[in-house]
Amino acid sequence: MTEARPTPAGTGASGGAGDSARRSNLATVLSLVHHDGPHSRAELTRATGLNRSTIATLATQLAELGLAYEAAPMGSNAIGRPSPTVHADASTAAIAINPEIDAITVGLVGLGGGMLHRVRHETPAIPSAREVVDISAAIVHDIRSRPGAPRIVGVGVAVPGLTRAEDGMVTYAPHLEWNDEPIAQLLREATGFPVRAANDASLGANAEKVFGAGRGADNILYLNGGASGIGGGVISGGALLTGAAGYAGELGHTLVSSGGALCHCGANGCLETEVSRAPLLDALGLAPGESERLEDELGAAYASDAPPAALARVVDAQVGFLGIALRNAVNLLNPGVIVLGGFLGLLHAVAPVALDRAMRGQAMRGPRDDVRIERARLGRDILMVGAAELAFADILANPRAVAPPVP
Ligand SMILES: [Zn+2]
Repeated sequence: MTEARPTPAGTGASGGAGDSARRSNLATVLSLVHHDGPHSRAELTRATGLNRSTIATLATQLAELGLAYEAAPMGSNAIGRPSPTVHADASTAAIAINPEIDAITVGLVGLGGGMLHRVRHETPAIPSAREVVDISAAIVHDIRSRPGAPRIVGVGVAVPGLTRAEDGMVTYAPHLEWNDEPIAQLLREATGFPVRAANDASLGANAEKVFGAGRGADNILYLNGGASGIGGGVISGGALLTGAAGYAGELGHTLVSSGGALCHCGANGCLETEVSRAPLLDALGLAPGESERLEDELGAAYASDAPPAALARVVDAQVGFLGIALRNAVNLLNPGVIVLGGFLGLLHAVAPVALDRAMRGQAMRGPRDDVRIERARLGRDILMVGAAELAFADILANPRAVAPPVP
């Protein structure tokens, strides 16, 4: 996958490099208001180093492209002429799709990162790629047919499996039982939009970087625990670590117990066999379908001085194994922040000191010194926002590439 992280083109660029500099300045301003919210012209001037008249011109150009709009500052009581505020324009949006074992979620995410619309279509069985394409295309058609529908610039797909960055081919998605499914190509044919697909945890990592707990950090390790295991994504030096073909970050399948259980990947003692949601639900007396109660029940059990011994044993064991995985990752990757989502975020919430000790007690001095562990902040919309970011990448890199606004 590509990540659009435009850099400021400097001030006063002109001549032969002028076109690309202007494009890059436009991209910089659009990324600022998309990722970090509304900015006054004065703030944009400070953030970019560009002069006021250049910022005014860029804001006007973004408005003409339908990507931003200017408004009077909210609650302004400043004396004199207040600097207008530049907002990302959510009338330009992206479609996000996330197939899971029991449902297909399709979302509409506006420029600026806000969820505009979300449809969760439950499936009676694990959906095939063809079913995901047909159901998603029908939902997209419905979204486009609504009065006042935004301009859609593309589709991003968050896949719970190994996905090739170059062409959005799902090589292997074990829980969906997909092998070599060209999901991006099929969706492109069905919807007519440009489509990109990537691993769900990689997209989650990027979403936490641009909108969540990893904001401002350039070296992030993201781990998410869900019903179907543990996914991981790594941001290194500001860019998503993809590896040779886009498969990097499978921290759920790193070894944490040499005598551990057999994993569906074929190996033994993977993080995701030793640390999983089911035993936590079980220890709390919850059924597998009651996972939405996990946070409240776990929190209530740990709010007392003495959580039930059987539960504490499960939590302690899982925290220990998670600590081993984090130690390995800290030594290997030297992240500045570790962001934990899903039930891994809950383990951190109830046992922050034990988890920190398990990681820090075994990692090397140096890499362990400045790393901090945080719970993911984006909640249930994280994969929608992450997939949309993939679909926005092209216009964030080159705002002029966007099709004309809907009249
Ligand atoms: Zn495994």
